[in-house]
Amino acid sequence: MYLKRLEVYGFKSFANKTEMSFEEGVTAVVGPNGSGKSNISDAIKWVLGEQSVKSLRGSKMEDVIFSGTSSRKPLGIAEVSLTLDNSSQALPVAYEEVTITRRMYRSGESEYYLNKSSCRLKDIRELFMDTGIGKEGYSVIGQGKIDEILSSKSEDRRQLFEEAAGIVKYKHRKHEAQKK
Ligand code: ATP
Ligand code: MG
Repeated sequence: MYLKRLEVYGFKSFANKTEMSFEEGVTAVVGPNGSGKSNISDAIKWVLGEQSVKSLRGSKMEDVIFSGTSSRKPLGIAEVSLTLDNSSQALPVAYEEVTITRRMYRSGESEYYLNKSSCRLKDIRELFMDTGIGKEGYSVIGQGKIDEILSSKSEDRRQLFEEAAGIVKYKHRKHEAQKK
């Protein structure tokens, strides 16, 4: 499984609809300072359901929507779609490609889609559980994250190992069953 495509519109500095295709094995994005490299990793975190404004380097969630420039009006919507190659069936769905989309208006509500069908954030969370990809995963390791992992409480650090071991799904199901 690998990141195949990222489509960004209205997200941070991406005022124009921008499509990025990644071949298997791409390991780096390079560019001048301020050109939008970190905005790409922010877009990946955001579409995976990131709710922490701080982790997205903003002060309010609206900050992810293109805020305009001297020559261009602000936009009212941000939309990011992330496509993964699932030909290895690493994700437990019968699609060769899995695309998740998040759209947000200035009013604040986010909409999520899985292969163009409307879904809940919960569905996306469950799909990526134990894959290391989701919001709680380790597919995006931001600056300072390694220090945070090393200095965190053992119970918090355990979560990372549980995700890697692939048992989060079962713990989650047990928890859901106990609620009923
Ligand atoms: P560096 O090499 O310094 O880390 P970078 O390539 O990671 O740079 P980013 O942090 O991704 O750069 O992009 C910063 C740019 O994104 C800034 O010019 C900033 O004004 C712009 N930007 C961030 N949020 C928005 C927004 N909501 N609307 C418009 N532009 C934005
Ligand atoms: Mg950066």
